[in-house]
Amino acid sequence: IMANSGQKVVLITGCSSGIGLRIAVTLARDEKKRYHVIATMRDLKKKDKLVEAAGDAYGKTLMLLPLDVCSDESVRQCIDNVKDRHIDILINNAGVGLLGPLESISIEEMKRVFETNFFGVVRMIKEVMPDMKKRRSGHIVVMSSVMGLQGVVFNDVYTASKFAMEGFCESMAVQLMKFNIRLSMIEPGPVHTEFETKMMEDVAKMEYPGADADTVRYFKDVYLPSSIDIFEAMGQTPEDIANCTKKVIE
Ligand code: NDP
Repeated sequence: IMANSGQKVVLITGCSSGIGLRIAVTLARDEKKRYHVIATMRDLKKKDKLVEAAGDAYGKTLMLLPLDVCSDESVRQCIDNVKDRHIDILINNAGVGLLGPLESISIEEMKRVFETNFFGVVRMIKEVMPDMKKRRSGHIVVMSSVMGLQGVVFNDVYTASKFAMEGFCESMAVQLMKFNIRLSMIEPGPVHTEFETKMMEDVAKMEYPGADADTVRYFKDVYLPSSIDIFEAMGQTPEDIANCTKKVIE
């Protein structure tokens, strides 16, 4: 499938669920058909939800490619599969959460969060930047979080990964501006997606090795119930964030 002339090529990471899936569908179903969407996910076996939500846009304004943002090889192959490596808009959405007392979290788990939330974005920008610079145009969007601006208890490592990305992007934005490439950050508060479900499942399995009783009690009896209340009271929908993203790139 090729983009029609005048259509912007948009590549989105992490489209198997949640916000990424909804951004892909919203842009592919744009009433003026302004976008040629390349929706990527690390496991194409998970494509059914996206394909169903895209309806007749699938195969027309929406195509799929495999992409694991943690793998140099996968990132290179994915961009090689895009005609002329030409991407007008890159939306870095893929991300993972990590919650709990620091003593109970292994360094390996922490590295996985940085590998995805920080190096995943760095890898993507590094790969698409040369073509954008050559063409002297492009827009890079990054899905950060309010936790990229403000630390939140028991989210220490996730917060740190988003802060790192904010710093990296602020610095990059200055360099990219010279080439007429825009860089935008989106910083959502709580959003009802599988992100929340996955974290709660992880928490349910947690045995808190190494953590003291007071911290575990604070986490289970104070933090978790209040965090669930905040989600209930303030949680936005993936559609809200997709509409916001569409405005950002228009
Ligand atoms: P979901 O868990 O629903 O979606 C996350 C997506 O990222 C999935 O498609 C997942 O794929 C993908 N992903 C994870 N690791 C990789 C990888 N290595 N390579 C490619 N894709 C990967 O969560 P959300 O939609 O909520 O999250 C999207 C973004 O929004 C994240 O960056 C998150 O930090 C941010 N955010 C979320 C908030 C929330 O409250 N939900 C609030 C603020 C920001 P797979 O199915 O294969 O795991």
